[in-house]
Amino acid sequence: MDDCIFCRIAKKEIEAYIIKESDKFLAFLDIHPHSPGHSLVISKEHFVNLLELPDNYGNEFLQVVKEVSTLLGKAFETDSLTIGINNGVLAGQAVLHLHLHLIPRFKNDGGGSIHSVVFNKPKESLEEIYLKIKNASQS
Ligand code: AMP
Ligand code: ZN
Repeated sequence: MDDCIFCRIAKKEIEAYIIKESDKFLAFLDIHPHSPGHSLVISKEHFVNLLELPDNYGNEFLQVVKEVSTLLGKAFETDSLTIGINNGVLAGQAVLHLHLHLIPRFKNDGGGSIHSVVFNKPKESLEEIYLKIKNASQS
């Protein structure tokens, strides 16, 4: 993926403030931080989103996420972080290469919780929704 910006960062063709590197993952500062220390964890290989990540990459991914979270907590003296993936264009994903946001949180930082990301209350009952998912899991 020659034109993918995160592939180019992974190959060190484009500079970034890299804060952690493992065999398969890389963490660096987001170029437009929403909070001091706002960082991204990416796969070095090009996967569009989390669903494309091979199952056997999961442990290393989570390990890097935890290590960078600990590092940011220490650096910015906070025990709170918003951790999230805009997984898919409708969820706000702009760069179509798997990345997870780590956003250190502070008292009165003006942000909200994950619940403030979307307001689309379902018209169906929880039971109807549950049955839809159950049916999907059987087909
Ligand atoms: P998303 O909306 O989840 O796809 O977010 C993509 C993120 O990548 C944004 O927060 C951008 O600020 C960040 N970003 C884009 N280009 C770069 C870059 N060259 N270096 C670091 N972060 C970047
Ligand atoms: Zn890529």
